[in-house]
Amino acid sequence: MWLQEWWISRPFAVGRSYYRIPLAYSHLPIGIAFPMSDATTSREAPPIRPDSAFLSDVEEHCDEPVSSCYHCRKCTNGCPLAFAMDVMPNQVMRMIQLGLVEEALQSKTIWICASCQTCTTRCPNSIDIAHVMDCLRQLNRERGIQPGEEDVVKFHDAFLKSVRRNGRVFEFGMVGAYKLKTMNFFGDTKIAMEMLKRGKLKFLPSRIRGTKEVRKMFDK
Ligand code: SF4
Ligand code: SF4
Repeated sequence: MWLQEWWISRPFAVGRSYYRIPLAYSHLPIGIAFPMSDATTSREAPPIRPDSAFLSDVEEHCDEPVSSCYHCRKCTNGCPLAFAMDVMPNQVMRMIQLGLVEEALQSKTIWICASCQTCTTRCPNSIDIAHVMDCLRQLNRERGIQPGEEDVVKFHDAFLKSVRRNGRVFEFGMVGAYKLKTMNFFGDTKIAMEMLKRGKLKFLPSRIRGTKEVRKMFDK
């Protein structure tokens, strides 16, 4: 909540310095001001270049009425992962409406979203926000834009490769591929040991019968 207020707060200048007052505190007689970093205060910051076709691109791509979002924030208030996001789900909808392509497609939020669909069931305008997030991930990859969460993208790649090859996920191989991509070999050792103990990590893959059909689905 506080971060959201921060995000939409407006900067003001005193002399050559810039400050922000979060809207949540702006009613107080004595303001609480925070100095802004050089990156956000620079007068030479590159101008934002909205793309007026972005909204229709996204609506066409995912067949969801993003333009009907009126920012009630029910999606954001119900999102279990909002605490880890850099912009809130309703703000992503607003970025799409405003044509802020890079801001939406470079956000961490689209990769942190777990597709749990809580937001989708809460939206009064029947927007499948989880599906919109999925479309934004696809657009990010299609347009070759630097993702906001590189490790999550590497995990997605390793997961999908494993499913393409075996028709189902082969956890041991997938984790190996992911570790090679991130070079973080000891990050999850404890969890891996626990999974091994419980027989959840098999050393050899087991393939399903219809692997050819699964590959065809990936090639489409
Ligand atoms: S719940 Fe629906 S209408 Fe409300 S902010 Fe989220 S997307 Fe927009
Ligand atoms: S689908 Fe994504 S954005 Fe929606 S509530 Fe779940 S984690 Fe949050």
